Amino acid sequence: MTDPKCALCKPKYCHEGTTEDEKLPDFCPMKNFKAVVQNIKQKYGAEDIKDFFLSAALTEKEAYDEKAAREQGKIIPVRPRIREIAEFAKKIGGEKIGMAFCCGLSDEASKAHAILEGHGLEVVSVICSCGGIDKEEVGIPAEYKIRSPKDFESTCNPILQAELLNEAGTAFNVMIGLCVGHDMLFTEHSTAPVTTLIVKDRFTGHNPLISLYTRYHKNIT
Ligand code: SF4
Repeated sequence: MTDPKCALCKPKYCHEGTTEDEKLPDFCPMKNFKAVVQNIKQKYGAEDIKDFFLSAALTEKEAYDEKAAREQGKIIPVRPRIREIAEFAKKIGGEKIGMAFCCGLSDEASKAHAILEGHGLEVVSVICSCGGIDKEEVGIPAEYKIRSPKDFESTCNPILQAELLNEAGTAFNVMIGLCVGHDMLFTEHSTAPVTTLIVKDRFTGHNPLISLYTRYHKNIT
């Protein structure tokens, strides 16, 4: 069976509602996984998914100027992602939400904390270095330390971040700048669903799109 390669498809036929086999590329999952496509369609009506899914759809709709979309067909965004996260939380009735953040984005985390609280949400936040554990204590070789191998260097502790937010019983958790790999461990161990507010990209000021948009990055990607 051919694996899906939607990123290589032009145009994105599904987005236009075109589903006839003869028009679709060979790697199209709509062509090769018809039963899966049909089965998944049913899942959105399930009791444990329906409200969550509808809240996501409404959050998406409200992210645009409704009048401009309806009357002029114009798609004009009206709110940033952090506002979308707050509005989504309210829609699902999630009064307590978690925040797992990187120490390097402490200022941003504290601002996000205040904004979300301003929306009436209770925020539980855990920093990556929680535990104050030296990297060597968890099996990381001294030479993997960023600074001197002789000095204390706290390990990121994504599993603890997840566990503390699990204990707090958050409705969902927001990641702020967790490292590649640590973000995956956090997601894997979080019992609540996870969304991202800020993705870490040290080189681009946490804007990974820059390396896709400019040719100045082509030799380092
Ligand atoms: S689902 Fe099919 S039509 Fe849609 S982007 Fe993927 S390959 Fe293209």
